[in-house]
Amino acid sequence: MSDFRKNVYRMFDRASKILELPDGLTERLKQSSITLHMKIPVRDGDNIRVFDAYRAEHSFHRKPVKGGIRFDLSVSSDEVVALATLMTFKCALVNVPFGGAKGGICIDPRKESVELLEKVTRRYAAELCWRNCIGPATDVPAPDMGSGEREMAWIADTYSILKPNELNALACVTGKPVGQGGIRGRSEATGRGVQYVIHEFFRHPKEMARCHLDGALEGKKIIVQGLGNVGYHAAKFLQQEDGCKIIGIGERDGALWNPSGLDVEAVSQYLKEHGGVKGYGDATFLENGPSILTRECDILIPAALENQIHSNNCDEIKARLIVEAANGPTTANAAERLEERDVTILPDFYANAGGVTVSYFEWSKNLAHMRLGRMNKRIDATRRSKLVDQLETLTDKRIDTHVRDELAYGYSEIDHVRSGLDDTMREAFAEIINARDRFNVKDMRTAAFIASIEKVAETIQTMGNWP
Ligand code: NAD
Repeated sequence: MSDFRKNVYRMFDRASKILELPDGLTERLKQSSITLHMKIPVRDGDNIRVFDAYRAEHSFHRKPVKGGIRFDLSVSSDEVVALATLMTFKCALVNVPFGGAKGGICIDPRKESVELLEKVTRRYAAELCWRNCIGPATDVPAPDMGSGEREMAWIADTYSILKPNELNALACVTGKPVGQGGIRGRSEATGRGVQYVIHEFFRHPKEMARCHLDGALEGKKIIVQGLGNVGYHAAKFLQQEDGCKIIGIGERDGALWNPSGLDVEAVSQYLKEHGGVKGYGDATFLENGPSILTRECDILIPAALENQIHSNNCDEIKARLIVEAANGPTTANAAERLEERDVTILPDFYANAGGVTVSYFEWSKNLAHMRLGRMNKRIDATRRSKLVDQLETLTDKRIDTHVRDELAYGYSEIDHVRSGLDDTMREAFAEIINARDRFNVKDMRTAAFIASIEKVAETIQTMGNWP
């Protein structure tokens, strides 16, 4: 069993022991229901190439099951099982009514042509479809490392072709482009969720004091590892909207360090053009990329891979708060040692739940066949406008135009999405704190596991047995 999967189970066990669940139920909660290992053959010129691909469906206590598809050479059966397990507890924690799943294809998307990637993705979707492992009511994939809107559009199209009578075909996958049934705010959602999680943390002075942080979020020094979809959006919003300083960025080929702050947009542009960060001006380049994790900062956001913070570097970490944007970036051993030093870790299945939350909104929108806010935007705007007119008449004063515009505004889809996401992150934070206080545990991860295991266990126990 891989270290990552062992780590996930160890963290789960810690929480389930505290809950004193019966052995059978613990086993049911822990084990993955199905793991598919497929060999995907595709024609590449005169050649045929065969790719290993996986889909793990962890728990059907809620249907459909849900989880991203990773495109990376490191993908393995163990990895998707561990990630699918995390998805079950992530969905439960943020009250998204899905079971957990995860998929992956062993491929390096940066080295393959778009034509080949399309063939592989469509064949993967077809293989899932033949096995009934994709569909609006069964299993709904989404993007993950190495995949994005383009791949989700290919999957939705393939599924629609194979299921011509399926009215809800577009709901078979989320993270699609807006023009193909996607929802505004999905591509930024995981990074946006990371920002909301940090906002919520900073609304709790007691929590801040526990990890020896104080003051406002503005001006806080942040290091981000991985400037992909999640890392880029989180860093961009924290810099542009909250006035944080992004002083370090770690990437595959090394890291950038600038204590006065890096321009996230410029680094991202450079990364896209050059495939790495080496050579970017206005920063010190560190050949040893992971060394950025141990530099001086207030908040560390690992947003790349698993097992990045481990026994050999955890004692050197200077950050007081670690926000796990990636899945599984901290090993169980390292997490325990960091807790001993009062470093707070906001765990992955809470911190990066923004993606699945907005995916839930997209899936609901696809089933409703209507954009969020379409029915009430105009009526809301008209009513509020009348209210502002009335206020002006009664007070005999003019309200500032920009205040009037804000008050009389009807909410669009993106407003609904951001509001729903913000609320979800706040509620889940409250549930974690509640579980921590009820069971008198120290760390947020165990508390988050307790909060979600309780919900999944309750659903399973009230399901009854069939047959
Ligand atoms: P991505 O492929 O868009 O970005 C990953 C980034 O990490 C890339 O810029 C890549 O170059 C960089 N990277 C890869 N290996 C690295 C290394 N060894 N050191 C430093 N940087 C490295 O992927 P993403 O969608 O942003 O996902 C990142 C993490 O977030 C993954 O753990 C994923 O499971 C998790 N996640 C993603 C989503 C989502 O909606 N995309 C949702 C939840 C969790």
